[in-house]
Amino acid sequence: MLHYAVLGSGSSGNSYVFSDGTTSLLIDQGYSVVELRRRLDRFGIDLASVKAVFVTHLHPDHAKGVGTLCRKQNVAAYISARSVQEQPDQFAKLCIPEKQVATVEPFEVVSIGPFSLFCFATSHDSAGSVGWFITYEDQNLMVLTDTGLTTDEHMSLAKEAGILFLEANYDRRMLQTGPYPLYLKRRIDGSYGHLSNEQALYFLQESGFAGKHIYFIHLSDVNNDPALLEKAAHQCIQTPFTVCHKNQWYGPQPEAL
Ligand SMILES: [Zn+2]
Ligand SMILES: [Zn+2]
Repeated sequence: MLHYAVLGSGSSGNSYVFSDGTTSLLIDQGYSVVELRRRLDRFGIDLASVKAVFVTHLHPDHAKGVGTLCRKQNVAAYISARSVQEQPDQFAKLCIPEKQVATVEPFEVVSIGPFSLFCFATSHDSAGSVGWFITYEDQNLMVLTDTGLTTDEHMSLAKEAGILFLEANYDRRMLQTGPYPLYLKRRIDGSYGHLSNEQALYFLQESGFAGKHIYFIHLSDVNNDPALLEKAAHQCIQTPFTVCHKNQWYGPQPEAL
């Protein structure tokens, strides 16, 4: 049976786990190994079962724990080829042993145990950034985060997904009236920034997503309010959803099992 969980999401660390009990995979690893183990324990997943980590992009909240995990636990890392080629210094900082890194192109399928995965391009200010699409038996899951805009490709993939982990980073009004300096507001709001609540909900309506559950992830603690998003989502979509509060962990919801 498939187990999955949001181990944490937001600017202080991101990681998602997918496991059949024997083989576990991570998407992103923004934590120390000690903290990762603590979060996996919460879901009864053994750190030793983690075989690979799939990276969305090289920003520290997603990638800073990848190198340590690879070195300590002999885990393999999968990263988009563009991320490595176009950001050699940031990549080198992760200190992943060379033999444990595999670079992949969008839509190149990687199979590990009962899972197969491929990445697809996102639009973010980290070259080669990607989202991941995961298949386990007849279940498809999609992680779409850290993207300033959504594309037709994202929409067709979301249509195939049963469980969607979707960024809802900021409320537009809170961002505009909030404390961030103008350049940062422009960065977040721009096409290489993050998805707003409005963009995420529009995406859900436009894509025809017909899956079982949505996890809204990567909420900003300054520019978003989980209660606001929850209210707006109730008005726009019928699908059950979970608003993932900063740095909290969430397992499968009953209706999605
Ligand atoms: Zn980022
Ligand atoms: Zn991020």
